[in-house]
Amino acid sequence: MRILLVEDDYFIGSAIEQALHDAAYAVDWVKDGHAALSTIQTQEYGVLLLDLGLPEKDGIEVLQTLRKAKNPIPIIIITARDAVEDRIKGLDGGADDYLVKPFLITELQARIRAVVRRNQGVADPILSNDILDLNPATHEVTVDNEAYVLSAREYALLHALMLRPGHILSRDELEDRIYGWNEEVASNAIEFIIHGLRKKMGRETIKNVRGLGWMVSK
Ligand code: CA
Repeated sequence: MRILLVEDDYFIGSAIEQALHDAAYAVDWVKDGHAALSTIQTQEYGVLLLDLGLPEKDGIEVLQTLRKAKNPIPIIIITARDAVEDRIKGLDGGADDYLVKPFLITELQARIRAVVRRNQGVADPILSNDILDLNPATHEVTVDNEAYVLSAREYALLHALMLRPGHILSRDELEDRIYGWNEEVASNAIEFIIHGLRKKMGRETIKNVRGLGWMVSK
């Protein structure tokens, strides 16, 4: 899943970027409110992490602009502003969650998983179809009662497919979801990852639809 991080503090931003990258997210990081709004016009994201105290345009303005434009992206505010009035303003302004700094990255990750679930309209934390169960908290996949540990890329790709079982994703769409701006993508990268996944979980777990892309069954 690709995440847009809006944070002007270099140390906090780089710590979050690195930790989320290690947890198999593709992260694009911008440092002011204008950049946040222009980036979101051109790129699709699964979650927006939004600081409030930002140069150019305050985080609350970014939030209001997006919601006024009916942009449905899940938004988690990450801020040092801990007053109750600020939290209420953020949530009533259209944010899905509000996390006060300093926080543990593990809590941020759990909150990301929670807003993604809600956004998908599912309550079960395990993503399942008739063949496999994928646990976003542990990155573990279970097929026929056998558990497999996935690499970060394998997890990211399988997660993208499992968010919409029965829906075909093309190579471009998969690349878009699992690689951020600063990452080189080899031309056969997606095939390579799918090959690794099938080797672990079995060939039938991921279907190739010739010329269109890949999918997992419903
Ligand atoms: Ca700030």
